[in-house]
Amino acid sequence: MAAIPPAVPPQPGGPGPRQPVHAAIGLGANLGDAQGRIRDALALIDALPATRLVAASRLWRSAPVEANGPDFHNAVAIVETRLDAFALLDALRLIEAGAGRERPYRNAPRTLDLDLLLYGDGRIDAPPRLVVPHPRMAERAFVLRPLLEVAPDATIPGIGPAADRVGALAGQRAEPTS
Ligand code: ADP
Ligand code: MG
Repeated sequence: MAAIPPAVPPQPGGPGPRQPVHAAIGLGANLGDAQGRIRDALALIDALPATRLVAASRLWRSAPVEANGPDFHNAVAIVETRLDAFALLDALRLIEAGAGRERPYRNAPRTLDLDLLLYGDGRIDAPPRLVVPHPRMAERAFVLRPLLEVAPDATIPGIGPAADRVGALAGQRAEPTS
């Protein structure tokens, strides 16, 4: 007997029921107890509805890129989620807010920054609210190096394998601290 197609096919970023999708989330902080906030955020991400943490990179330390203030601490998490990309972004914004995130000006130092880097192999173009893959991820060593720890085969839709991009970023300071 032929399989019955689902009433609403899963669509990356769209509404409706969906198969679990692997998403990559970039975490960064450079104010206060940055490492503690990143660890707390990983636990909160794991506790999101319909979402589980599959892998988390080590914590990395990096020089600010297009940003101000002290060194950043960074990590990348891989989650499996049934949330659509917009719901996942909204949930990440709530976690940022809970960590006291304020946006006094563009690229200001931040208590916690959570970016949706990859959502399956989806491409979402809904600026300014959501653009996936994250538009600047391929130029940032503090994103690609932790990403490659947890997803060595990661491909950035429209760009190519993350591993092919990281060599060009050797001049950016980013080193693991844990
Ligand atoms: P940034 O992370 O670029 O330093 P913010 O964290 O203040 O700056 O994000 C600014 C805006 O970027 C947010 O309002 C958010 O809606 C939007 N945005 C667009 N695409 C993404 C994405 N892939 N991940 C996170 N935020 C995004
Ligand atoms: Mg952000």
